[in-house]
Amino acid sequence: MQGHGRTGQRKTDRRAAQQSAAPSGSAAAQRGRAGPEVYAPAWDTARRTLARAARLWPALLPSACLVCGDLQRDVVCARCATALLRPSPHRPRCPRCAMPGSTGLCGTCADDDPIDATLTLGDYASPFDRLILGLKFGARLPAAGWIAAQMAAQMAAEMTAQMAAHTAAARRASTLPDLLLPIPLAPHRLAERGFNQAWEIARPLARRLGIGSSATLLCRQRDTPSQRALDLAARHANLRDAFSLISDLSVAGAHVGLVDDVMTTGATLREAARVLKAHGAVRVTAIVALRTP
Ligand SMILES: [Zn+2]
Ligand SMILES: [Zn+2]
Repeated sequence: MQGHGRTGQRKTDRRAAQQSAAPSGSAAAQRGRAGPEVYAPAWDTARRTLARAARLWPALLPSACLVCGDLQRDVVCARCATALLRPSPHRPRCPRCAMPGSTGLCGTCADDDPIDATLTLGDYASPFDRLILGLKFGARLPAAGWIAAQMAAQMAAEMTAQMAAHTAAARRASTLPDLLLPIPLAPHRLAERGFNQAWEIARPLARRLGIGSSATLLCRQRDTPSQRALDLAARHANLRDAFSLISDLSVAGAHVGLVDDVMTTGATLREAARVLKAHGAVRVTAIVALRTP
């Protein structure tokens, strides 16, 4: 507001200077306009051109595709994006956990699984794992925005398809989450990395979907030792009491979208979903960039 005020004041000053220098319509007035009024619009045009160039600069600069390394102008080149996002009707996924190769529920998902559905862009496998590795360990944060944009487009397309279905279950599944929560990092890991990759995806995704999000509602109570060497039962035991909610008011009766970069066994997402359901969430959809096949 203050800036507008100053600009307005400068314009007023210029007009006042011209008006005081020459009466309107006179030759002097014409010269007056040919004075400051020639230079001011030119400067204004130059300033606007520079501002436009600064906005376009990132799109004009070539950047390496995070997946194949080809120089082009997006986070992921068109060829890699098509390969990752192409629909695979002959490779169905478990409707609850998105495990590929399963027509119905996979062997891991129970009927009362705390996760109701999982959405993913594709498999966490070479070469697309580079997208996540670049984001997480190379701090290539634009990858998160790219993932969010693709996920929002996929969610919109799935909603349209499901809304056309006639079963109540399909229509229920077609609703967008009421809010998005990222899987939180342990505080020391957040301090080390400087950002939570799940929140970097959740924030722009929520903005695109026009829904709420919170980086802090779901908290990591304690750090959990690495899950890699543990079997499924040990993973669940390892994660018990790992998460808590700072308030149960926000999720009671809500459809929550739980966002993470990768789903491996799903133990972490299931434990977080279990906590959300215990606090009254009616539906939990896991939204993961990539899924370990
Ligand atoms: Zn590429
Ligand atoms: Zn499953």
